[in-house]
Amino acid sequence: MQKFDCIIIGGGLGGLTLSIQLAKKGYQIALLEKETYPFHKVCGEYIAMESWNYLINCGIQLPNLHLPRLEKLKVSAPNGNFIEHQLKPGGFGISRHKLDHLLALEAKKLGVNLIENCKVNDVTEINENHYLVHSNIETIEAKIVVGSYGKRSNLDVKLNRDFIQNKAKGLNNYIGIKYHVKANLPNDIIELHNFKNGYCGISKIEEEKYCMCYLTTAQNLKEHNGNIKKMEESVLYKNPFLKKYFTSFESFYEEPLAISQINFSNKTQHENGIIMLGDAAGLITPLCGNGMSMAMKAAKILSELLPQYFENEINKSHLTAKYVFQWKQNFSTRLWAGRKIQGVFGNEMMTNLLINAIKPMPFLVNKLVSLTHGKSF
Ligand SMILES: Cc1cc2nc3c(=O)[nH]c(=O)nc-3n(C[C@H](O)[C@H](O)[C@H](O)COP(=O)(O)OP(=O)(O)OC[C@H]3O[C@@H](n4cnc5c(N)ncnc54)[C@H](O)[C@@H]3O)c2cc1C
Repeated sequence: MQKFDCIIIGGGLGGLTLSIQLAKKGYQIALLEKETYPFHKVCGEYIAMESWNYLINCGIQLPNLHLPRLEKLKVSAPNGNFIEHQLKPGGFGISRHKLDHLLALEAKKLGVNLIENCKVNDVTEINENHYLVHSNIETIEAKIVVGSYGKRSNLDVKLNRDFIQNKAKGLNNYIGIKYHVKANLPNDIIELHNFKNGYCGISKIEEEKYCMCYLTTAQNLKEHNGNIKKMEESVLYKNPFLKKYFTSFESFYEEPLAISQINFSNKTQHENGIIMLGDAAGLITPLCGNGMSMAMKAAKILSELLPQYFENEINKSHLTAKYVFQWKQNFSTRLWAGRKIQGVFGNEMMTNLLINAIKPMPFLVNKLVSLTHGKSF
């Protein structure tokens, strides 16, 4: 059996970009993804500019894709009161269907052993330098395993992680819903419209499409007997922007894409010898529009630390300690700020008050945005 330097579980932005960076350095990498590219994902598809250079470094020719640059922000309260503001440096729009696929092609080109349709069921630690990864396809070996399998997976249950044991309830049990729509909105704006216990983002992606994606509590859906349409009509439509968009924009999907059991509890960055990356290490609230950049930034950090481990310059516990230190240094404030802002946005009255309060003080918007964003990497 071939022993890989590293097995990465989950081919989202964290796993794909890590595999590319390590393959570029000549390491033997296996990347196991349970789906087959290209595929859709629930995500707002706004990528903060801080990731632009890194994606180019990963082989994605972003300038040639002619993607919309998103440089304005509009935020409305459930009653329709709104603010509009320049977003600096802002972001750009691209669907996950397209971006993940381009990265997967690049990874394969660089010699990453990318196995699709491969669901990992368990990981066995033989010793700190030897792991067995068991999937529906085969069992393979590596010196180290990285878990970049997203917000919540069968492996979290298998590992009995703390956040799985916390009973998901109230404001810590969310669902995400996404549509791709035809819209007559400007190209350069990301809009965030609040409603009771949730918010909906809309912004342009490639090919004249717009991504319209919202997060709300599972309780909100439960109160409408699990009927998404009914919930949208009775809750989201109270915001006049959302009523207009949902009733006039044509969807490219027959049914919306939905995910459940989203929870923003703290997570650990390593578990049972597995190093966690992206949402598997910590999930930022989506209204910050920065989860993808965090996953990629953490991949960059790891791609610089892992070679030190492979070349025996540091041992496993040094590797883990250095990674956790850098992870916290880069992301703890963002995660904290994201939770605080989401706490306000979940509340109808607070959002209305906040929009009124911020209107005459636009510099506060810059402050809030800068708390949840990082520097270009
Ligand atoms: C509603 C919503 C809107 C969002 N909007 C934005 C936004 O606009 N901008 C932004 O930057 N971020 C946004 N985010 C956050 C962003 O989507 C994530 O932070 C980002 O996708 C994390 O990347 P990742 O690589 O960690 O995980 P993912 O992209 O989720 O990838 C994980 C991969 O692992 C695979 N997998 C899972 N289990 C297994 C297994 N057992 N075996 C093999 N493969 C497995 C999955 O199929 C998946 O492909 C949003 C999130 C939500 C919920």
